[in-house]
Amino acid sequence: MQDRFEATPEFAQRKDLEDPLRSFRSEFYFPLHEGKEAIYFCGNSLGLQPRSAEGAILQELKDWRELAIGGYLHARTPWLTYQHGFRRPLSAIVGCLEEEVTVMNALTVNLHLLMSTFYRPDGRRYRIIMEAGAFPSDQYAMETQVLAQGLDPADAIVEVHPREGEEVIREEDILAMVDKYRESLALVLFGGIHYYTGQFLDIAAIAGAAHRAGALAGFDLAHVAGNIPVRLHDWEADFAVWCSYKYLNAGPGAVGGVFIHERHARNPKLGRLGGWWGNEESTRFRMEKGFIPKGDASGWNLSTAQVLNMAALKASLELFDRAGMAAIRAKSVELTGYLAFLLSELKTLGFEILTPPEAHRRGAQLSMYFPDKGKELHGKMNEAGIVVDYREPGVVRVAPAPLYNSFEDVLRFYHILRDLF
Ligand SMILES: *Cc1c(COP(=O)(O)O)cnc(C)c1O
Repeated sequence: MQDRFEATPEFAQRKDLEDPLRSFRSEFYFPLHEGKEAIYFCGNSLGLQPRSAEGAILQELKDWRELAIGGYLHARTPWLTYQHGFRRPLSAIVGCLEEEVTVMNALTVNLHLLMSTFYRPDGRRYRIIMEAGAFPSDQYAMETQVLAQGLDPADAIVEVHPREGEEVIREEDILAMVDKYRESLALVLFGGIHYYTGQFLDIAAIAGAAHRAGALAGFDLAHVAGNIPVRLHDWEADFAVWCSYKYLNAGPGAVGGVFIHERHARNPKLGRLGGWWGNEESTRFRMEKGFIPKGDASGWNLSTAQVLNMAALKASLELFDRAGMAAIRAKSVELTGYLAFLLSELKTLGFEILTPPEAHRRGAQLSMYFPDKGKELHGKMNEAGIVVDYREPGVVRVAPAPLYNSFEDVLRFYHILRDLF
């Protein structure tokens, strides 16, 4: 397989020329390093700014300036229903019905909020199964949720670890753990892609196992949304949350995304923490007692739409809409495959790739583990104009984002690395 790639400028240039998404690169601003575009492989932490983001935000400022309160009904995108416009493009990205998706708040807030519906320990069922070494915010959220229920995290939270001497979790071990705790299990909660190793999990298999055990399945798609197309509806996830500032390029602290499967979203009797923006639009402004949730995912909205925060996401999703997730993923498999090929040529240089080698088990990111000198090498990469991030103890995460990175970026990265060692 690997000899379909070559470590030559001619090869990289030809791949870029053949790339149907090549024009999208010029839709983004790249940070500069010594007057040249940096090699930006950090879209898994903060996506680049779309050139259209500024205009989208200025439009809202203009509508506010000129219309004031009138903007709720008469802004170019009326603020009263601002969130509606996200349903179609987002449902295409996470694979669901339009009624199953909404935007609000931020990832960790949404995780807590959805726990108010989907984590209801009843004495018998109270355990949560999650991955060991989850992103800290997810760990804190689960720990404090369990404590808020008066339970002991050491008992209620069960973590699945990679086996001794292995880097990634075996899916069979997740399924076995779900089965083992089937009597007491309330919720299975996993990151769709592990932020540290880059491993992509089989969402359908995990959701299926959770359901067979009589539990629910939720997913944190922070590293999945805009990276790998998923099919949350067909895969029967109960709920999912993600942020919009990583692969979705909507800017620091951008509004978060939420999926709630229709079997729950359409159920107004389902308990939740409510607010007026989740109330039926027809009765919202009567200002009366008696919360009547909307019969879709937006029934979990709480507050007035954060329009200034959402505008950049709107601009960014227009690019995703034009590109299409299938084309983005097809390019990503090639681009990250090329990176993996080039890194395999450098393998004698004392690092290991933690990410699974199979394309269907990873997204854009490869995690390079340096047993020693990781931090020092990361510093040198930065000095050479490479933007990648570093996570203790010795992991450099490298994520070529298919919407704006090129095969030439990947080759330049390889050349710089080769000369650094
Ligand atoms: C990025 C990330 C977060 C960040 O949460 P915020 O609430 O947006 O700060 C949480 N969980 C995972 C798995 C992440 O990758």
